[in-house]
Amino acid sequence: MLLQLFAPAVVVAAGGVAAGTLLLESGAAFAQAAAANEDYALIARSLQLGSVGAGLLMTMHSLWRLWRWERGMEPQCPCGGLLSRPSATRGRRRCLGCRRDHPEN
Ligand SMILES: [Zn+2]
Repeated sequence: MLLQLFAPAVVVAAGGVAAGTLLLESGAAFAQAAAANEDYALIARSLQLGSVGAGLLMTMHSLWRLWRWERGMEPQCPCGGLLSRPSATRGRRRCLGCRRDHPEN
């Protein structure tokens, strides 16, 4: 359950940092002028900072949901597990403990 709660935040943060690093390296390799290289570096650093920030916000949101779940303030599965956020396409919530679907209520 914890993996499903926190993995998306880790993927977003790690993916953004990796993409920023790739952009930094490709910018250094292809940019001839120093000014263009600085533009690449600025975009890459912004991408890294933004993705780490987004990852932190997602982690805070997951911690907040976990905190509410521990106090019985979040919808729960009969098994006691925390339900996922409602799916926009399926209109259902999945238990993060036993993986069963529950209709939206
Ligand atoms: Zn369950």
